[in-house]
Amino acid sequence: MPTSSSRLAGQYALVTGASSGIGSAVAVALAAHGAAVVVNYAHDEDGANAVVKEITDAGGTAFAVQADVSDEADLQDMFRQAIERFGTLHIVVANSGIQVDAPFLEMTLEQWQKVINVNLTGQFLTLREAAREFVRRGPQPEVSKATGKIICMSSVHEVIPWAGHVNYAATKGGILQLMKSTAQELAPHKIRINSIGPGAIKTPINHDAWSTPEAEAKLLELIPYKRVGVPEDIGNLAAWLVSDEADYITGQTIFMDGGMTLYPGFEAGG
Ligand code: NAD
Repeated sequence: MPTSSSRLAGQYALVTGASSGIGSAVAVALAAHGAAVVVNYAHDEDGANAVVKEITDAGGTAFAVQADVSDEADLQDMFRQAIERFGTLHIVVANSGIQVDAPFLEMTLEQWQKVINVNLTGQFLTLREAAREFVRRGPQPEVSKATGKIICMSSVHEVIPWAGHVNYAATKGGILQLMKSTAQELAPHKIRINSIGPGAIKTPINHDAWSTPEAEAKLLELIPYKRVGVPEDIGNLAAWLVSDEADYITGQTIFMDGGMTLYPGFEAGG
């Protein structure tokens, strides 16, 4: 269970891809700190309902909405439903992401495009709808210092190249400038936009990399802190990053990676 507080009381949040992994932990953490949460899912309705149940069983407020983040009409309809139900949104976490891996020489246009559509276009559409709602509603300083807060779920592959995953790495590199440029453009509206760059976190997306002791030992070679992360690590960071305690942070990527971005190959002095 995440730490709880009333830090986000009275705030409404939407988390994309919240039916599993990091997104579900972020939704649960936001709710534990008092936010009411829209739990978005693409296909896994049971997963989304389980997250809603976990939140409501703990006394929180949540509901699930199906939407494909790469489909403009679908995504806009989800925001409409959220705003109809909650009146507005204060926090949006653009978390949905996929991997479709292939050696570069064999990568098809379809494999490239699919990952771009979900990971990058999906984030563009999510950020734009979120920002439109924040600007429409305007400041509510009695609820939060910032008019709106957005987190982009990036990755250490925003800065670490990744052979065999060129489409995925390109989207995370793209998210860096999407996040920074929107943060710069929207700061005068008192909208804060930041990224979280997870390292290796135990979720379905990278199951093969940690699910056997041999695989986990190999993965730990890339992690100076010698622990594979868990979704709750990211949930706790997200709940703090959208709170007023982090009000002066915008346009930043916070890597949460046990040191994966510290060039672990140089651990023993190089
Ligand atoms: P996951 O597979 O559990 O979560 C991905 C989520 O995205 C799922 O809930 C899935 O339903 C959703 N999704 C996929 N396509 C969608 C679409 N078209 N519309 C809406 N939702 C869609 O894996 P995860 O590790 O929790 O991934 C969450 C985010 O974290 C991703 O952006 C991923 O790139 C990022 N990330 C994960 C790790 C890690 O080690 N697990 C590391 C760095 C970054």
